Amino acid sequence: MIGRSNKICPICKQETEYIYAGPFYSIEDVHEMCSWCIYNGTAATWYKGVFQAAVEYNGGLLSVTYDDQNKDFVYFLNYDEIPKVIDKELDELLFRTPGYVSWQESQWQMDTGRRKK
Ligand SMILES: [Zn+2]
Repeated sequence: MIGRSNKICPICKQETEYIYAGPFYSIEDVHEMCSWCIYNGTAATWYKGVFQAAVEYNGGLLSVTYDDQNKDFVYFLNYDEIPKVIDKELDELLFRTPGYVSWQESQWQMDTGRRKK
């Protein structure tokens, strides 16, 4: 998902050898970003998106989308909207962890409170 090339990251405008071109869920059609902008959270903030479509959470499937009208992320557990989840590990997974391409939509699982790939 992170290809080697000499490109300019559209976010930080730095030349980089590593460009991410994996899954990213946002309103805007995003194609490329550098791994540093992913790591420090700039990419998710800049494009108002997340890297994971669904994450196992409290026995359900959690998904997050950006609401352009309210200018904030909206959290869903299964199909129900829930209050914003404050969870450092969840934030890292959603906003700073590159996704991967699979035949079916990828799904992160939880193991006694700890996430695993
Ligand atoms: Zn960058």
